[in-house]
Amino acid sequence: MPDVDFDIGIIGGGPAGSTAASYLSKAGLSVAVFEGDIFPREHVGESLIPATTPVLDDIGFLPQMEAAKFPRKYGAAWTSAAQKNIPTLGFQGSSHGFGLAEIEFHEREQLGVNQDYTYHVDRGKFDLMLLQHAHSLGAKVFQGTRVRRVDFSEKEPRVIFPVGRSEAAVRVRMVVDASGRGTFLGRQLKLKVNDPVFNQYAIHTWFDNLDRTALAVNKEQADYIFIHFLPVTDTWVWQIPITDTITSVGVVTQKKHFSASKNDLPGFFWECVGSRPELKKALEQAEQLRPFKPEGDYSYAMKQICGDGWALIGDAARFVDPIFSSGVSVALNGARLLSRDIIAAAETGDFSKPSFTTYETKLRRAVANWYEFISIYYRLNILFTAFVQDPRYRLDVLKMLQGDVYDDTEPKALHAMREITRQVEENPDHLWHKHLGSLRAPSAAPMF
Ligand SMILES: Cc1cc2nc3c(=O)[nH]c(=O)nc-3n(C[C@H](O)[C@H](O)[C@H](O)COP(=O)(O)OP(=O)(O)OC[C@H]3O[C@@H](n4cnc5c(N)ncnc54)[C@H](O)[C@@H]3O)c2cc1C
Repeated sequence: MPDVDFDIGIIGGGPAGSTAASYLSKAGLSVAVFEGDIFPREHVGESLIPATTPVLDDIGFLPQMEAAKFPRKYGAAWTSAAQKNIPTLGFQGSSHGFGLAEIEFHEREQLGVNQDYTYHVDRGKFDLMLLQHAHSLGAKVFQGTRVRRVDFSEKEPRVIFPVGRSEAAVRVRMVVDASGRGTFLGRQLKLKVNDPVFNQYAIHTWFDNLDRTALAVNKEQADYIFIHFLPVTDTWVWQIPITDTITSVGVVTQKKHFSASKNDLPGFFWECVGSRPELKKALEQAEQLRPFKPEGDYSYAMKQICGDGWALIGDAARFVDPIFSSGVSVALNGARLLSRDIIAAAETGDFSKPSFTTYETKLRRAVANWYEFISIYYRLNILFTAFVQDPRYRLDVLKMLQGDVYDDTEPKALHAMREITRQVEENPDHLWHKHLGSLRAPSAAPMF
């Protein structure tokens, strides 16, 4: 056994770091989590998808999710401003035209998921509970400890952080970077590549007493996540229940739209939501609880996601766009897959890059599927709606929306969507050609 302080050092105590710490501690490894902030702290990313459930179950955290009474999320709905007279081109089931797509999770069985709902979470509370859970399983948690660098000059890496005016170092067998969009190791090792296609920007806040049914066709769906597409290119609004009365609302747009509005956060928010007058009216009647918070420059890839003695998980490995609420699910499933490889590596003592091949293969595959699905959504929004509504494709699309993307090569619906998008792009006379959005991916996307 090498002379180390801990087997594994984890940078970041968000969902990715806490989940990895839970798996590894449960397996008997000694784990240190270094978290720069003191929890609870606010965080964006409040709506989960069902692929989080098997992971929360594995680490024994589902009873606490239930006890915390996070709002249950049974489904999702996407609304658009009037989309009249768009030819359906043989797609079935479009009783609402192209103005509404909605799904319920119970419609498709999912391995390891024994409940027909997932959750919306207050991330301050959720992340704190998850970090405490990792601690209760044996992980040593250092909050308020922001890692300064990792020294890879010897076989066992050293995690270095400030202590007063000085520095301290902890020697580990392997480092897991779960530092989120801070992308700590990605920056130190110069692995980060900004995404040339998605250059999204978000502004968000919480409202009290918002009428969540303002744009709902079915008033019983008030506790779904709603994505309201705006008649502004590539721009949409999320509506996520946080408690019985509090709702998280955010606008996502291309950064260039925001830059043009001279950095006036409230002005830009209200101008955007004003393009859906019923939504604006409902928001004006609610009470804003927090200042607007911006999130920018969040789409990137990494040239490598693992190496000798290190690996990246969650947002530290990659982030694309939040349209399908995939972030926390990717963080949790990345932690699940990597932990399996780490536990095997600990048995042989070999922490070199090839030990993490299964993680790398499965994560790349999942994220590639997500990436293309998201791209098609932006490129030809009505195609997503057509596929969700059409019984021939619905369950396959639902599989992706559930986050069930780690084990198969490529969902069938994705292949069909790609083919139709190509036909529409190549034919200027195609009846859907004028509905193409401005983002062109994945042709220009970085290979992750
Ligand atoms: C606009 C927007 C909307 C989103 N909406 C959703 C959604 O609805 N659903 C969803 O699932 N996802 C959503 N996401 C994505 C989601 O926020 C992330 O995918 C998720 O938080 C990733 O978890 P993580 O653990 O990787 O990173 P984080 O949750 O960011 O945690 C990283 C932690 O690392 C710590 N850290 C950073 N640097 C250091 C350091 N040097 N030393 C020590 N600690 C450090 C940070 O303090 C932080 O606590 C959204 C993202 C954006 C930008």
